[in-house]
Amino acid sequence: MVKAIVGANWGDEGKGKITDVLAQESDIVIRFQGGSNAGHTIVNNYGKFALHQLPSGVFHQHITNIIGNGVAFSVENFVKEMSELEQRGVPKPNILISDRAQIVMPYHVAFDCYEEERLGKNSFGSTKSGIAPFYSDKYSKIGFQVNELFDDDECLKEKIRHAVEIKNATLKNLYNKPEISVDEIFNKLMEYKVALEPYVADTFSFLYEAVKSGKNILLEGQLGALKDTDFGIYPMVTSSNTIAGYGAVGAGIPPYEIKEIITVVKAYSSAVGAGEFVSEIFGDEADELRRRGGDGGEYGATTGRPRRMGWLDLVATRYGCRVQGTTKIAFTVLDVLGYLDEIPVCVGYELDGKQIDYFPSTTKLKRCKPILKVLPGWKCDITGIKKYEDLPENCRNYIEFAEKEIGIPIGIVSNGPSRNDIIYR
Ligand code: GDP
Repeated sequence: MVKAIVGANWGDEGKGKITDVLAQESDIVIRFQGGSNAGHTIVNNYGKFALHQLPSGVFHQHITNIIGNGVAFSVENFVKEMSELEQRGVPKPNILISDRAQIVMPYHVAFDCYEEERLGKNSFGSTKSGIAPFYSDKYSKIGFQVNELFDDDECLKEKIRHAVEIKNATLKNLYNKPEISVDEIFNKLMEYKVALEPYVADTFSFLYEAVKSGKNILLEGQLGALKDTDFGIYPMVTSSNTIAGYGAVGAGIPPYEIKEIITVVKAYSSAVGAGEFVSEIFGDEADELRRRGGDGGEYGATTGRPRRMGWLDLVATRYGCRVQGTTKIAFTVLDVLGYLDEIPVCVGYELDGKQIDYFPSTTKLKRCKPILKVLPGWKCDITGIKKYEDLPENCRNYIEFAEKEIGIPIGIVSNGPSRNDIIYR
């Protein structure tokens, strides 16, 4: 059976932890989109890890971890993360890299930085991992698939020549930055080739057989529905589709095989980078939630930047879950809210003086103001509780209120960062 784990919000919902937990019963874990611009934080017996490029199944020896064709694949980060696992005593994971995955080129990272610099105060708040330039090149058909590294050197050089010509025109005329050479790019790709050789595979055929033989397959999404290129808060989105439906494309499996879509919803909101965030809070209220949030504060796993904070936005979350095609919700970081006497949640938006309950497109979203409802807090630490019935009544009421508003069952509650802090309903 194929399951997807994806996010309903702006990302950082705790997908890494839920994937790590559910991975235990999976044969295969696949990353199908995005790149090292976001990180999944996982806490387990080996310690605390921020995975940017590797699938979250790497801590389990029985799992085949796949970097799918839809990923923006950074060889440098892949090598770095693999060596970190080794240094910290994690047994060597089983990894396959799709021969159709495309490579984040050194100049993609440079272009990401130059463009943000050029935009100045209008910048996207990019993580500068090269993701937007990467996907632009992919769809302009000047990207490099992993299989091309193993082709004839002259063919590869010819293609590099073509790309470098375009890149240098922009470097010189738009950014006024040093130009790049064909040899420097070719030599880098040859280094990548050596690093990747043990892992490259025809993952499409591998997955075709795996699906046919009924293996348990987990698609691991990165970021959340509100950052999806099509359905998110465009243009302040990521450059790939973060929705489960894209799993079929980015991994290469039939869409009708994705039977379960577990969408991770955060019990409050956080966002990194610019863009619409209706239930955002500021000042001391935000600082306190940021300090207490997640595992050791709400700071970006990739950049260390303080995250923007807000209350649970049920309008955005309902939309995010619908866009994902959610069959079940995993509700995370609920323990963090235990300090509050009262917990505001956003139950509607006011748009041009009228109340709406849907999540509009960006131009209208910019004019929306939150309509809040205040729920009573539970004022205690719920970490360590194993049974749903043992949660304080106000905490259960909070969960059940969210569930009713979203309209999809909350099947999993996460009440702490570690693997064991999990309650099934
Ligand atoms: P992801 O990208 O969706 O995997 O999310 P991140 O890893 O960026 O952010 C989630 C953060 O919250 C990580 O530091 C996790 O260890 C932590 N976390 C996940 N679930 C819980 C939870 O239920 N409670 C607490 N306190 N922290 C959690």
